[in-house]
Amino acid sequence: MKDLNKGAVSFRKKDFDKHKDLFGNLSDTQKPHTIFIGCSDSRLVPSLITSTIPGELFIIRSVANIVPPYKRGVNFPAISAAIEYAVLSLGVENIIVCGHSNCGGCGALYKTEEELKDLPHTNLWLELARPVKNRVTQMLPNATPAERDWMTEQLNIVQQINHLLTYPYVLERYNDDRLKIFGWYYIIETGEIYNYDVDKGYFELING
Ligand SMILES: [Zn+2]
Repeated sequence: MKDLNKGAVSFRKKDFDKHKDLFGNLSDTQKPHTIFIGCSDSRLVPSLITSTIPGELFIIRSVANIVPPYKRGVNFPAISAAIEYAVLSLGVENIIVCGHSNCGGCGALYKTEEELKDLPHTNLWLELARPVKNRVTQMLPNATPAERDWMTEQLNIVQQINHLLTYPYVLERYNDDRLKIFGWYYIIETGEIYNYDVDKGYFELING
């Protein structure tokens, strides 16, 4: 394993020192403006792609950036608890649901039960995105794998925004404009980010 301890030493010496005042100010409080719900994928680094510093983003991550619909959580609703805390206690103003290219979670929607038999929790979790697969299969019956993946990753972002809107306190704040919701699609190899335009119904490049 890469020596992460060395990384910790380097952080304390370099980056921490550079931001000492910031960390001091954040010692007993946080006021993030945005919840960033991203896929757990190691290639998606929220603070890097948003040029933000500690204290700005309340980060929630899950396989395939899935948000369980309200009240459909299991015994330990980790994602719902994080959303609840950030919206109701911290009063965030924005939520970004960020998916990405070449998403293994979205790709796994097309695997068979047999192929997923050793990943039972992943398989169960992906239930929440299966309607996306069905839609893509209907819309693009003759799609190439690349087209299929691209469409699945984008529609999954929209699906998870719809799940977010099943949270009564999210819907209420979204409707009266206290809370803005964005769907981002991040392309790993180019750094491009596309934002979902709700009115137009498609994704537009925001950092070209
Ligand atoms: Zn992913």
